[in-house]
Amino acid sequence: MNINISFPPDAMRNLSLEELDARISVAKSRLGDKLLILGHHYQSDEVIRYADHRGDSFGLAKAAAQTDAEYIVFCGVHFMAETADILTSPDQKVFIPDVTAGCSLADCAEIDQVEDAWKIIHALGACRITPITYVNSGADLKAFCGRNGGLVCTSSNAKAAIEWALERSEKLFFFPDQHLGRNTAFKMGIPLDEMVVWDLEKPLGGNTPEDIQKAKIILWDGYCCVHQEFNAAYVKNLRKKDSSINVIIHPECNFELAQTADYMGSTAYIIRVIEESSAGTRWAVATEKNLVNRLKNQYSDKHIEILQSFEPFCETMAKITTVNLCYQLEQLVQGNLINQVVVEEKYCKEALKAVNRMLGLKI
Ligand code: SF4
Repeated sequence: MNINISFPPDAMRNLSLEELDARISVAKSRLGDKLLILGHHYQSDEVIRYADHRGDSFGLAKAAAQTDAEYIVFCGVHFMAETADILTSPDQKVFIPDVTAGCSLADCAEIDQVEDAWKIIHALGACRITPITYVNSGADLKAFCGRNGGLVCTSSNAKAAIEWALERSEKLFFFPDQHLGRNTAFKMGIPLDEMVVWDLEKPLGGNTPEDIQKAKIILWDGYCCVHQEFNAAYVKNLRKKDSSINVIIHPECNFELAQTADYMGSTAYIIRVIEESSAGTRWAVATEKNLVNRLKNQYSDKHIEILQSFEPFCETMAKITTVNLCYQLEQLVQGNLINQVVVEEKYCKEALKAVNRMLGLKI
């Protein structure tokens, strides 16, 4: 639920970067300790430089849980701001400079669809099943996991979340990203024939009752349109031209690509591996272009390129701009609480339970 949605006036769009920079700096200093700006690694350089804390979904959720700031401005996408609202106290307020900054992956699963599938899976005799939702999902899905003994995971802790769930049940229902679920489970030694995909367009998700009864992991048929752009054929050609290239990918990429990659992990993992690598090493990276280009500029002693002939980028992350960030901060200075992200009361408690189970995982 969003209240008081507001967009910058047209005149603000004509301001130069220098003018915006000056105004953002003034607004930031007026708000002082009252304000915390969180920035996801996929944000543009122009925006992320204003973040007090930058990170992946997991790091930003932890930062939100730990801050005392009254205003948290989220430079990321909507589900991240919702997670921050779930984790903060009622007197703290979370804002997103553009409330239309959603996530195509989070949009792949809706609560009614998940509940319908859940009922069918139970009717087929699966009684000990744990739901896991990737953090890229609505607060209603997080609440669903909270009330059904499940938890939230991010790409940083999906392995620990799957282990946690399998200690408590025979089966997992993993949504909305099939690739994170499959790639992580396979790496943990769970064979593909113990996983099925739930295609919501088909009866029984496109499976037989026996398939579902036998499966250890039921994967929702969701995917990220950005990470979908990377593929194994490109790696094959690249390696023919450059035998010393290291391929590092995000686990939202498909299974075939994951099998050809040298490294796979969250954005925080990708940053760490490249940072710790030796000068002169060569890297092809499969994740959003803003992060890859930032790494390229930051580590000029290494060769870093994107694992595609074009630059896949996240259009919704790009909805956060210096213009709407400036407008958001100036409105807050004036006491106008625009673009606040408020998770409905009925979801908060159960969603918090699922998020806290994730934060309690040992990784
Ligand atoms: S990169 Fe993909 S998963 Fe991440 S916010 Fe964009 S659409 Fe969603």
